[in-house]
Amino acid sequence: MTRDLKELSIAALVLFVFAVMAVPAAALAFAVNEVRFGVHPDKIRMVFELSDISDFRAFTLADPYRLVIDLPEFDWNAGSVAKPPTVGISNVRQGQLKPGVSRVVFDLERPMALRAAFLLPRSGSLPDRLVVDFSPASPEAFMVQNSRILGTLNVGDGFLPQPAVQKVSATGVAPVPPPAPTHAAPQEKPLIVIDPGHGGIDPGAVGANKTYEKNVTLGAARELRDQLLATGRYRVKLTRETDVYLKLHERVRFARDHGADLFVSIHADSIRDSGVRGASIYTLSEKASDVQTAKLAERENRADLIGGLDLSGEDEEVARILVDLSMRETMNQSKFFANTLVDTLSHGGVKLLPNTHRYAGFAVLKAPDIPSVLVEIGFMSNASEARMLSQPDYRRKIAASLVKGIDSYFERVRRHQRT
Ligand code: ZN
Repeated sequence: MTRDLKELSIAALVLFVFAVMAVPAAALAFAVNEVRFGVHPDKIRMVFELSDISDFRAFTLADPYRLVIDLPEFDWNAGSVAKPPTVGISNVRQGQLKPGVSRVVFDLERPMALRAAFLLPRSGSLPDRLVVDFSPASPEAFMVQNSRILGTLNVGDGFLPQPAVQKVSATGVAPVPPPAPTHAAPQEKPLIVIDPGHGGIDPGAVGANKTYEKNVTLGAARELRDQLLATGRYRVKLTRETDVYLKLHERVRFARDHGADLFVSIHADSIRDSGVRGASIYTLSEKASDVQTAKLAERENRADLIGGLDLSGEDEEVARILVDLSMRETMNQSKFFANTLVDTLSHGGVKLLPNTHRYAGFAVLKAPDIPSVLVEIGFMSNASEARMLSQPDYRRKIAASLVKGIDSYFERVRRHQRT
């Protein structure tokens, strides 16, 4: 092709593009054809199937918590949006905001931080899409991101998006880079929620030396927190800092409300055979790996009955959650984490039960989107182990091994994210 010809064809292309854009809106009615959700371990993804690539604007509003998507005036073909129970959206409303602009409002059941919003051009059988990622956040974290607007749609309300470069990469992905943070908020460190088992009116197992499980777990949790914070790599929260009673679902809720990246519940077991000792790690399963483990889960879950709470109301929701594919992915991550811990504990000189990683239906492990494990750090029913568990030295050793396991887990998560 000669240079002249090339220039001519570019000019023709430009003309063609302008011609297409000049077609009246009625002839090219913009439409939202479907809205669907995917629950991932680290986020909830919402996908708008669009009739065409379009500018957009996404942001949150507080009091009550809402997620708002503005688009050019659209035909709504998405009907009533099917919201999986785990996405935390109570209601979806849409309509014209002003001539030329339509709005979709998602009423949130709890604070959710907007993480990303970007366009995906049509590919294969998939249409043009707007992808919006969000995740549970603490009320404070929600307010930090609440001033952000993602996307570049100018609605003319003085509520202007921060400049964001929109470019289509070779792979056809058009990410909107996160706007410059309003506060000096560096990439947030992963949040580990540690859950010291039992507490308050629920002492847990009573040790051979008359020590209470609730005190051993709190001591171990504090030690683990201190060691994790000392690495400088993590944020850490405890479900309880003192000797208080918490229901099991409150512990799960605490982790979800704070947007935990990992949940570690700490317990110390007790059985009739006082000769048995060693630590063990549990992940969630509908079916316990053995009778012993099923009984343990029963004992731990009984904590809620002590507080006068019936778990049956939650089971229906849990059952729904369990069939969700995202739960499987979370469970796979939990299993990987558990196996990593078995490895670091055994290398750290902590005595382990045979078949250290076991499965059972622990209520406290049922966050659908947070990799969760329950660590039984030893047996209160074994006299020498109960004594060791009451000593800060031994708890330091256990915590050090747990920190190593948490390090390996996040190394893998980071590697996975890069590829
Ligand atoms: Zn326990």
